[in-house]
Amino acid sequence: MEQNRQHAVVLGAGWAGLLHAIPLARRFDRVTLVERDVLPRGPEPHRGVPQGDHIHLLVPGGLARLEQLLPGVTDEMTTAGAHLIDSSLWRLHMGGGPVDLTDADVRITGATRPLLESVVRERVLEMDGVDLLEGWGAQELTTTPDRDRVTGVRLQSQHDPQQEQTLAADLVVDTTGKGSRSPRWLADLGYGRIEEVRVAVDIHYATRLFRRDPADLDGCQNVLVDIPPDGTRGGVALAVEDDRWLVTLIGMLGERPPADLDGFVEYARSLPFADLHDIVRDAEPVSEPRQRAFPAASWRRFDRLARLPARYLVSGDAVCSFDPRFGQGMTVAIIEAVETGRVLDDGGLDDAGPRLLAAAGWAVHDAWDLATGSALANPRVDGPGRCPGGSPTPTCSGCSRWPTATRSSVRPSSASSGCSPARPSSCTPASSRASWPARTAPPGPRRRRRHDLASRRPLSRRFSPCSPLRWREQRRSAAPDPPQPVPAARRGSRSRHSRPSPG
Ligand SMILES: Cc1cc2nc3c(=O)[nH]c(=O)nc-3n(C[C@H](O)[C@H](O)[C@H](O)COP(=O)(O)OP(=O)(O)OC[C@H]3O[C@@H](n4cnc5c(N)ncnc54)[C@H](O)[C@@H]3O)c2cc1C
Repeated sequence: MEQNRQHAVVLGAGWAGLLHAIPLARRFDRVTLVERDVLPRGPEPHRGVPQGDHIHLLVPGGLARLEQLLPGVTDEMTTAGAHLIDSSLWRLHMGGGPVDLTDADVRITGATRPLLESVVRERVLEMDGVDLLEGWGAQELTTTPDRDRVTGVRLQSQHDPQQEQTLAADLVVDTTGKGSRSPRWLADLGYGRIEEVRVAVDIHYATRLFRRDPADLDGCQNVLVDIPPDGTRGGVALAVEDDRWLVTLIGMLGERPPADLDGFVEYARSLPFADLHDIVRDAEPVSEPRQRAFPAASWRRFDRLARLPARYLVSGDAVCSFDPRFGQGMTVAIIEAVETGRVLDDGGLDDAGPRLLAAAGWAVHDAWDLATGSALANPRVDGPGRCPGGSPTPTCSGCSRWPTATRSSVRPSSASSGCSPARPSSCTPASSRASWPARTAPPGPRRRRRHDLASRRPLSRRFSPCSPLRWREQRRSAAPDPPQPVPAARRGSRSRHSRPSPG
């Protein structure tokens, strides 16, 4: 049955909300982005995305897909000041030593999160039919009397709690992030309690911007000192817009990187590799420090509910919030947005929610395995999926030595071999995937990688750009999302924003 596709409402205009508006705008007459904050008009942080002060990069697979969704966006990011950092300019230290990715020929973004988000926001808000309703928070869903179908959302003004309004919609998408009220809404509507899988990583961040000289570290633009499985300290530095280093120091399991400058420099000095200390010891700090805690990664298993209300989608961090050390969340949201377009083309609106969870499940699952496998390699991290020997059961893709910056696009060849020194043979990776459809193996030879178990280092530190996301991308390229023409004069007035009503 042909269904009405007049109005889609997206709750939350953060990263995932903006991205989901893209396929919706191509399939609905109107899309309204409802955002609790009043959003900045440029590359500035906003309250609803407090994590935005810390390092945010797009891994190669995310960057490529974003360009598919919004052709020309990579150029716009670089015009706005972002770096595209080639793997030859990375310095990665993992598993106790340097990792050589010189030949990988892949790129990540080097920009602050506010810059990445503002470029995407500007493009999305210029799309035909997209409106932004700022300063209004989603309070609850409205449904048909039998509660089988979502019909809209009730909103409350953030400026005057007495003010409310209801938006009617043919489809509602929840992308309100980690604090999503979907679990409560669905429980109240009688859909049951959502199972939440948590891995208590207990991570703390301290971040500062420093002035960057292009000659620093011989031109290197991305440094990662990974937390080893038996350690608690690490850090990352990224070259970002306006000649700055964004330096994030990370502590795990009770370790808290200090915010004051002396303590920050001293913490960098305590890391097993000197690169981060080399950057911060003499550089001029150009921002106040920011600290943030990330107690646990969490995956809300909406896919395990017996049913969802019709015409209701949930996506982004509202479904799964990954251990941030692996830089996966934004890329998974991009994949979910791409899959949203396919799901809407392949069927009706009523069951689009469960079909999206199934279609994008592979990305959530891969990223979850990757991050939790690494976290659980530390015996002090509490979480499900540990085998009796104390090691993590997720697949070897979670091995802690994979480079954060390459996740979702480049995996070491061992990732496809099923070999991990941290995983004893008694652990069956398949057990953690029981509820997911079997996946085809990537093409090409599968070689088992040898590891020096005593030093816990791979014998070879050369990585191959063979990754599930990359081969999936090839497999799916037969049916790409239709490219969006880039309007000639796109920059200019940002029409149709609904500012909150005064008072
Ligand atoms: C410290 C840290 C570092 C990270 N680094 C990376 C990285 O390098 N790479 C990467 O890919 N990912 C990274 N992530 C993950 C990334 O931040 C998230 O995956 C991503 O922001 C998810 O987007 P989202 O839109 O689902 O949620 P958010 O970006 O959090 O956006 C949610 C939006 O919803 C709005 N909102 C909330 N409630 C309501 C409501 N009731 N009504 C209306 N609006 C509402 C908020 O104001 C906000 O705008 C990191 C996370 C952390 C914590």
